[in-house]
Formats: sequence, structure tokens, C-alpha cells
Amino acid sequence: MCVLGLGLIGGSLLRDLTAAGIPAFGWNRSPETVTAASDEGYDVSGDLPATLARAEREDALVVLGVPVPALPDMLAAVARHAPSCGITDVTSVKGEVLRLVGRYGLSGRFVGGHPMAGTADSGWDATTEGLFRDAVWVVTTDGAAGEDATGYTAGESTGESAGGPAPADVEPWLRVWRRVIDMAVAVGAAVIPARARKHDKAVARVSHLTHVLAEALAVTADQGGALSLSLAASSFRDATRVAGTEPGLVRAMCENNRDALVTALDETIELLNGARRDLADPDHDISGLVEAGHDARLRYEARAGRSGSGQANRPFILLRPGTPGWLDQLHYAESIGAQIGLLEV
Ligand code: NAP
Repeated sequence: MCVLGLGLIGGSLLRDLTAAGIPAFGWNRSPETVTAASDEGYDVSGDLPATLARAEREDALVVLGVPVPALPDMLAAVARHAPSCGITDVTSVKGEVLRLVGRYGLSGRFVGGHPMAGTADSGWDATTEGLFRDAVWVVTTDGAAGEDATGYTAGESTGESAGGPAPADVEPWLRVWRRVIDMAVAVGAAVIPARARKHDKAVARVSHLTHVLAEALAVTADQGGALSLSLAASSFRDATRVAGTEPGLVRAMCENNRDALVTALDETIELLNGARRDLADPDHDISGLVEAGHDARLRYEARAGRSGSGQANRPFILLRPGTPGWLDQLHYAESIGAQIGLLEV
């Protein structure tokens, strides 16, 4: 495995892969991180062409651990110095990444990834072993049917190639797909498959919207002055935790998922406007929103497991990639948010 970018996610991945006994090496732009990681015994370089040439020689899977704005330069370097390696990423948006990957002609050997794990901290100092244990790792499936996986139009229907085996030219892509899944499983994650567009719509609601609301809540509290901040306790701390994330990372994810985020934001604004109308009218109450929100939270807890229990309650589907009917199973898994495992063909 070859990890490019050793910040919170890439660096934690390098730690976990190494701990799992999987040969892994990395590259980072800033020399401070290269020195810090090397001092801890990790196999790390600051020479990108040399690192990619090594990845090519050793048939490594290249993992892009950098934010979206850094991807064009990374993809150009991969295209040039690692012309046949499989590629994956950890970026929080998938449609924009697929578009960029297509622009560099890398779609046939790219499988997107998104570990749903992290903290509000950044950089090598924030990295930790075990970050991905029991976390969901989304693995994209655009390209599974041999369609052009260069963007949002890919694979929207559920019936393509249903019943038949995967076309022969999908085999190289499938090989990368299996490796990405094996990597996620090796670091203790639960793999959930999704096409890029479906992923982006889902994370707009459960992640990107959370960031926007956390920022707005933090600003509103701050505008209340010193007493407000002194009285802020755990509900405020929990609801604004992600506002502590490095602003560039928040912008990179939200601004690269605008359409889906605007849709989710519109729904929230409508709910908030309703709550405001009801609160402003002494003859009304906010039971509708409060009860619906409480029910929704209970449904989330039923699926995710109450915090601390460590046991998620997701459906689990075993697949044999490339065999007849497997695309239908894959899309079914996506539609019910199921975790998948792979059987040998
Ligand atoms: P991070 O801790 O800030 O690390 C960012 C890494 O990218 C660093 O290695 C940094 O190198 C490198 N980088 C940034 N700009 C670069 C550029 N222009 N050229 C080359 N390298 C560059 O960020 P992170 O949290 O690991 O996020 C990395 C990716 O993971 C992002 O796409 C993010 O969306 C995704 N992600 C984050 C979380 C989370 O909770 N944080 C969760 C899931 C996915 P330097 O050391 O040189 O700055």
C-alpha cells in the first residue's frame, strides 16, 4: 500500500496498515511530517516521483490521503509515475473526485473510498492507531458494470447488466475494488458500497449539513456574548464539535457537494421556519418537530448502536464479485445501507 498525504486520515491509515503487518509506505508534502513519521519508524518519503515509481514497481495500491483541492496535482503525478497502479482515495465527496479522475484518464483503475471516521484535529500529530475500527468505509461501485465511471451519470439505474456476468474489461477495475475492500477490512472497518451520487446525497445529510449547522450554531451562541459561552455545556459541545475542524477541510467537502447539500439545507430551513412560526404563536407548540426528531434519532440509534455499545445493527450481505446477478445484489446492498463481505469466486 502506498499512502499519499499523511494527515489525520492518511497517517492513521499508514499506522493501521503497518500494525496489521501489511507492507505500507507513504509520502507527505511537508518535511516536518516526513521527519516525524520516519522517527517513529514508518517508511515515509518526501519525494513524490520516487514514491510513485516504487508503488509501480511493487504493484502497490495508491491511496490518496489529500483534500480535493490537492487532487489534480496528485492525479497528474500518479498518471505519470505510476501508470498501472490501482488507485483509491479517502475524500469526503465522491462525485467531484470521479470527475477529476476521469479528466486524468484514470477511471478504469480507480475505486473511491470514504472512511466515516475522524476527529476535528488535523495533521500527523492527530493520527492514531485504531481510528477505523468498527467505522464504516464507503467503497464506490461506479464502474462495476463496465459503464463509463467518469461522473454522475454513471450507473444510476439498478438494472444494468443484471443477470449476466461482468464484462471482461471490468476485471482490472474489479481487482482494484477487491483490494480496496481488503484494505478497509484489514483496518477493522465495515464496508458499505455506494455509487458516487448516492454517497454524496447521503453524506450531505449526515455529514456536510452537520458541519454547516455546527458553524451556524457556534456563531449564534457566540453572538450571545460572554455569558452564553460561560453557560455552554455538553449539548452545545456535542452539537458544535465539528465546527472545530480546520476550515479548509470543511469548505473542500461542502463546496464540492453543493447540489446535494443545498437540497438537505432547504429541508432543514423549512423545518426551522416551521419551528419558528410555532414558537412565535402562543397557540401553537413545537411537538411536531420535537417528536419527529426524537423518533428519527431512535431509528439512527437502532441502526448504529447506542454510543458505547460498539455493536452496529446493519444488514450484512456476502457477494461473489463478477458472478451472474451480483450487480443486483450490489445495488440492493446500497439501497438498504448494508455492509458487504466478499466470497472467493
Ligand atoms: P489533514 O489532517 O489536514 O491532512 C491533509 C493531508 O493532505 C496532509 O498530509 C497535507 O500535507 C496534505 N495536503 C494538503 N494539501 C496538499 C497539497 N496541496 N499538496 C499535497 N499535499 C497536501 O486532513 P485529513 O482530515 O486527513 O483529510 C484528508 C482527506 O480525508 C480529505 O479529503 C478529507 O475530506 C478526508 N476525510 C477527513 C475526515 C476527517 O474527519 N478529518 C474523515 C473522512 C475523510 P501537509 O502535511 O504538507 O500539509
